[in-house]
Amino acid sequence: MKYVYFFGAGKAEGDGAMKEVLGGKGAGLAEMTRIGLPVPAGFTITTECCDYYLKHGQKYPASLRAEVKKNLAHLERVTKKKLGDAKDPLLVSVRSGSARSMPGMMETILNLGLNSKSVEALGRNTKNERFAWDAYRRFVQMYSTVVIGLPKEELEEKLRAMKTRRGVKDDTQVPAEGWRDLVGEYKQHFKKQTSKDFPEDPEEQLWGAIGAVFGSWNAEKAVTYRRVERITGLLGTAVNVVQMVFGNIGDNSGTGVCFTRDPSTGEEVFYGDFLVNAQGEDVVAGIRTPMQLSEMARLMPKVYKQLEKVRSLLEKHYRDMQDMEFTVEEGTLYMLQTRVGKRTPTATFKMAVDMAKEGLITKEEALERIKSEDIERLFYPVIDPSVPKAELTKRKMATGINAVPGAAAGKAVFSAEEAEVMAAKGERVILVRRETSPEDVGGMFVAQGIVTATGGKTSHAAVVARGWGKCCVVGCEQLDIDYATKTASSNGRKIHEGEWMTLDGNEGAVYEGEVKLSTPKLPDAFSILMGWADGVRRLGVRTNADTPHDAKKAREMGAEGIGLVRTEHMFFKDFEHPEKSADRQFAIQEMIVADSPEARRKALAKLLPYQRQDFVGIFKEMDGYPVTIRLLDPPLHEFVPHDREKQEELARKIGVDVEVIARRVEQLHESNPMLGHRGCRLCITYPEILEMQVRAIIEAAVECKKSGIKVLPEIMHPLVMDRKELQILADATHRVAAEIISKSGVKLEYSVGTMIEVPRAAILGDEIAEIAEFFSFGTNDLTQMGMGLSRDDAGRFLPDYVDEKKAGIFPNDPFQSLDVHGVGKLMLWCIERGRATRPKLKIGICGEHGGEAASVKFCHKAGLDYVSASPFLVPIARLAAAQAVIEERAAKKHGKKSGGKKR
Ligand code: PEP
Ligand code: MG
Repeated sequence: MKYVYFFGAGKAEGDGAMKEVLGGKGAGLAEMTRIGLPVPAGFTITTECCDYYLKHGQKYPASLRAEVKKNLAHLERVTKKKLGDAKDPLLVSVRSGSARSMPGMMETILNLGLNSKSVEALGRNTKNERFAWDAYRRFVQMYSTVVIGLPKEELEEKLRAMKTRRGVKDDTQVPAEGWRDLVGEYKQHFKKQTSKDFPEDPEEQLWGAIGAVFGSWNAEKAVTYRRVERITGLLGTAVNVVQMVFGNIGDNSGTGVCFTRDPSTGEEVFYGDFLVNAQGEDVVAGIRTPMQLSEMARLMPKVYKQLEKVRSLLEKHYRDMQDMEFTVEEGTLYMLQTRVGKRTPTATFKMAVDMAKEGLITKEEALERIKSEDIERLFYPVIDPSVPKAELTKRKMATGINAVPGAAAGKAVFSAEEAEVMAAKGERVILVRRETSPEDVGGMFVAQGIVTATGGKTSHAAVVARGWGKCCVVGCEQLDIDYATKTASSNGRKIHEGEWMTLDGNEGAVYEGEVKLSTPKLPDAFSILMGWADGVRRLGVRTNADTPHDAKKAREMGAEGIGLVRTEHMFFKDFEHPEKSADRQFAIQEMIVADSPEARRKALAKLLPYQRQDFVGIFKEMDGYPVTIRLLDPPLHEFVPHDREKQEELARKIGVDVEVIARRVEQLHESNPMLGHRGCRLCITYPEILEMQVRAIIEAAVECKKSGIKVLPEIMHPLVMDRKELQILADATHRVAAEIISKSGVKLEYSVGTMIEVPRAAILGDEIAEIAEFFSFGTNDLTQMGMGLSRDDAGRFLPDYVDEKKAGIFPNDPFQSLDVHGVGKLMLWCIERGRATRPKLKIGICGEHGGEAASVKFCHKAGLDYVSASPFLVPIARLAAAQAVIEERAAKKHGKKSGGKKR
């Protein structure tokens, strides 16, 4: 097996498509070399080798040594330099890089190949002794900490002490002797700690570095990052050994990170950070605050022009926004990395739409590039426009760089660990750091927002937060952050740990206290892209909404009707007039405690106007679109008071003895209420409930129809398990409806159908369809009953079923993403049989899965007519439905290409 791939002098053994094997960085370097960009030469050791190394007790494959030797010799030929040479030494960087970007999570060693001889040569050849010794001390420092594992702090302490001795503040002021002394100290320290001399032999150095990079795949921070980013199935990291180029030789050198478009707004502008006289990590680490590219253009016009060319070439080549790292060594540009850049949700939409309009990608590709999370994140909050400017001015502590937009409010915490502890207690926190490092990702993930005192838009904090669409302010230099006292102060104000603060990632502002937030207007690109999705998809998308307000919101989100109105919600709360909710609650409670059908009817009559009024409101909002209304579903005990005080209040209100209430509540108690007297079973026992609800629906529909609204009511019975059961309910429904309609004198169409949420109903789909005019899968209950997992309690142990490191039985939580393998089969069985009985049977889904992308795609394949999702998830369903069509087309095309084999 081939473990090493060479690139250099315009040729590369690998290419951009080999990400899995060469990692993103290795594949990018190979591809850039192939298309003629200025890339330093080097070679990549594959992720397969990492996999072998980690699986074989940190041993390399037998052939690796010879392969590395051969490639090193090749590199020496191409660069005309020799590793460790006393005259003209080759220096290399040894960097990690896996198939998925994990910014800063794994190790890097720079300036490898320096020893007591080659450092002198480097000083002579660059005529810069100071630079050479600085490079050497950086190498000794990195090697000692990364390869050997000596604590960073001890070395940093020595650096600080040396600077104090010499009376200098910045590293740039340290003379050559200072660095030389420090190297001596570091080496002594190394010997004391390891009982060995610091390695002079460059090959020994190289093998140490290769092992350390492979090993860093399993470092805690990398494992945490993969966990939170849900990165699975990779082999490991590749190792890139690349000729060093130096951005820190002098003012004609520098290093930078740039994006082919603005990763925050998506605008088509060249965007990035540059640091003069600095080494690569300085930009990413955020230790110094960099300049913008426009300033670099002024300082180094020739190099900038060249970089602009690279920008357009790479974006056209990869057909996506690129995030590039580059170094300028004494006026010569070198490209060190290119990868698809992370971006904010707004930028994701803008870029996808712009690129499709520019013809860089197709509309279908634009649609495929959007993920559910991108849509969710569009709804992130901003500072509410109603907050007066004067209040903001009063609260303002500092302004930094607006790295990731959105706004966040939370309690200040000063370490990632504390962030995790507080978040676990349900607190909202803002992580306040001088700078962040990969160790902080756990805390960054749980924080509402992140603020750092240093760094630019490409610093670690900014890059990581952007990937998550999390509000982030960096380079907030006015903010004096004191870890010891756990305070941040500026502008005469001080925030202690646990005190509220607010960040505005759009403005880069930091405010004291909690400022009101609200959700922003959607970008234009969002509606354009959604329009494209609607043009492609075949699956209908409805919403689950119980109030006129939600129905309105859902229409704005693009819902084409309502797939589920849970009528019981109307008994709990008056959504239009919340202060009047108690009236409804008493009415339903009176109905429940009633001891005769007459008494129940009397109580139900009180509920009728409330229900009718709600339905009128919903029908109005859904003018011209179907509305599926489900009759009462939960067990009655959910409506009655369980504490004595509330029982007494109810007794007073309806004029009965409190003991009557208490006894009725006791009677309603069930050991397994989810499998008990609920759903349509209630109407089998108490048909008067059905009568009242159907009356409310039909009367509301008649009223709307008379006022010119197009109403399409669909009356749905929940939890049905048998044909005869549904027959009884449907007959009663038609009887009540027919009477009202005939009296009204209007012609009203309506239909009667059922939810499919009991496995028995799914199995008997052919029989049920004899009565039902439509089916709607209630996959919450169908999952609960199909898998025998309580939807209310399974959260206690389900994580173990899903966690790959534990039992790993299911790939996902089946209540979130449909269990296609099991519950999905029940659905397919039911669909096939239902349509055998009634070919035009309308079938939808109204469980939570209707708003989850993978489940929606399954529903498309299964031939459903529509999915129904909560209002904010409607766009996710629309997009997933379009992606399902695109994937179907691609599979067909692929099938044709490979001979269109039939199974
Ligand atoms: C279902 O069971 O999937 C459903 C939509 O009903 P509910 O969640 O109200 O039980
Ligand atoms: Mg249900």
